[in-house]
Amino acid sequence: MAGASEHGSDGVERRGLMFVLSSPSGAGKTTLSRLLIERMSGLRMSVSVTTRQMRPGEIDGRDYFFVDHAKFQAMAGSGELLEWATVFDNGYGTPRAAVEDALSAGQDVLFDIDWQGTQQLREKAGKDVVSVFILPPSVADLEKRLHTRAQDSDEVIRGRMSRASHELSHWAEYDYIVVNHSIEEAFAEVQSILKAERLKRERRIGLTEFVRGLQRQLER
Ligand code: 5GP
Repeated sequence: MAGASEHGSDGVERRGLMFVLSSPSGAGKTTLSRLLIERMSGLRMSVSVTTRQMRPGEIDGRDYFFVDHAKFQAMAGSGELLEWATVFDNGYGTPRAAVEDALSAGQDVLFDIDWQGTQQLREKAGKDVVSVFILPPSVADLEKRLHTRAQDSDEVIRGRMSRASHELSHWAEYDYIVVNHSIEEAFAEVQSILKAERLKRERRIGLTEFVRGLQRQLER
């Protein structure tokens, strides 16, 4: 995985990375993902498949690929999904081909997936995965956001709140933790993480050649 390379903004070739955002529902991860895609170049969103019902305002193929259980099982069984998990009684999974295409086209890939999917990606792609866990500043804030979203029924919201504690318990498996006090501040933090990770020496496979070129010029 992620064997592809791309040129960084400074022209040095590097390995593509898989940037994962996870959080309990309602911590602002979807908004952060949207902002990252809008404002960062060289980053493509991985669009998951899910068996859950489409929410008002969602678009098939943009937010998710909405599929039935039979199709989901078939995709999981035939290896079309890079990772998959059951969340809130529905199947969610990452189509493998789109991720591989993006990485080989020199793009980094952004994932909005849960801790189960993150564990699977880490097993498959190791250090090419950079993971960020988003925490809400308080439980009251989490609840407020779930209600303002107003897309789910009260029963679904209650279910999501009661799952939040379990999801939170996985925070320590992540490379970075961001507390979402304000969306702009959280965005700036997540953006800094991506920018710094793109500069990591191990990913910059073109550095040896680049520095050799500098040395050749110095020795002239
Ligand atoms: P929602 O139904 O609110 O869109 O998403 C519910 C949860 O499923 C979120 O925590 C989201 O990150 C997670 N999720 C979405 N897509 C995937 C996926 O492809 N794989 C996994 N493992 N989790 C996903």
